Amino acid sequence: MVRTLVRLIRIPAIAPENGGDGEARKAEELMRVLEEGGFDKIERHDAKDDRVPSGIRPNIVAYRYGKDSRSILWIVTHMDVVPPGDISLWTEAKPFDPVVKGGRVYGRGSEDNGQSLVASIFAIKALSELGLKPERTVALAFVADEEQGSRYGIRYLIEEGLFRKDDLVVVPDGGNGKGDFIEVAEKSALWLRIRTHGKQVHASMPGRGLNAHRVGMRYALALDRLLHDRYSKRDEAFEPPESTFEPTKKEGNVDAINIIPGEDVIYFDCRVLPEYSLDDVLSDARGLAEEVGREYGAEIDVEVVIRSDAPEPTSADSEVVSILKEAIKRCRGIEPKVGGIGGGTCAAYFRRVGIPAVVWSTIDEVAHQPNEYAKIENLVEDAKVFSLLALS
Ligand SMILES: [Zn+2]
Repeated sequence: MVRTLVRLIRIPAIAPENGGDGEARKAEELMRVLEEGGFDKIERHDAKDDRVPSGIRPNIVAYRYGKDSRSILWIVTHMDVVPPGDISLWTEAKPFDPVVKGGRVYGRGSEDNGQSLVASIFAIKALSELGLKPERTVALAFVADEEQGSRYGIRYLIEEGLFRKDDLVVVPDGGNGKGDFIEVAEKSALWLRIRTHGKQVHASMPGRGLNAHRVGMRYALALDRLLHDRYSKRDEAFEPPESTFEPTKKEGNVDAINIIPGEDVIYFDCRVLPEYSLDDVLSDARGLAEEVGREYGAEIDVEVVIRSDAPEPTSADSEVVSILKEAIKRCRGIEPKVGGIGGGTCAAYFRRVGIPAVVWSTIDEVAHQPNEYAKIENLVEDAKVFSLLALS
């Protein structure tokens, strides 16, 4: 399992939006892993995307037939990874040159989502080697584009009609260190790009221009405060219990210190409790943009990069929740909790079309961080839970 994880981490699979060339090479390697045995059928469902050299965003589905094929148990993981970020912070390993030490595998994409991807493969391989037939057909879906909105990944597969209403879906792309949290609900997600237009001039004569950077910062801090004040309710079923509004990415502006920036671009990542409407958040952000813009004589545009309104939660009484609970209990002797998180996984798209989906895995939550790692123990123990799930 460790060797397979290392093999896959070595191949970057970064979205074109983040300067990468997609998942095609990683998918080829994954096909080789799957063809080594354990599966009855392997399918490709590639989505076209002219922005990447291969022209495709790959999606792979590997089936292991069960005694009953009326409903399918799906385990959905994603191949794509986020960029490494500041390389100098990677002190344990280079992002795509994984290192195994202290019971961990370090590298970008190790925890998110390599650990679960590899665990799901070996869960099925183990059953095959033991000659055990799953109760119902199990399908492992390895998808593209999860980190950038899933248009070429799970949403593409859903549109292709691959899933049925009585299928059971597990998305092991979130969780906690004990593996005792099953996510059935999520927050709405809203990513905003905020573009401030000023006028570029020499820094010694700021009065002749309009410093977009200053206006952008004022706006960002005002928006930060406004959203936190106005959307401050807590719901203890969620982790964390409050809505979150974070200024994140900042685009580069001028190349020299003595230039007043004429344009400023920043981004906000908002995760909002389902009781609030994203329309309200958006109109507050735009209203404030007008207000701050007027004050400084600048134009501030608020654009939506990604919007995902929280779907109906998966019922805590649904079959997928109960068989997963049972499998975790039998493997670990613990009683899992059922609740909501910040969201942004593939599960939301299933819930939107009325297919029950849960998010679960055992992770230290180091995704998207420098020195990201997967614990080998979690890799193995989660595979056991997946095996039991297939036999449920
Ligand atoms: Zn992920």
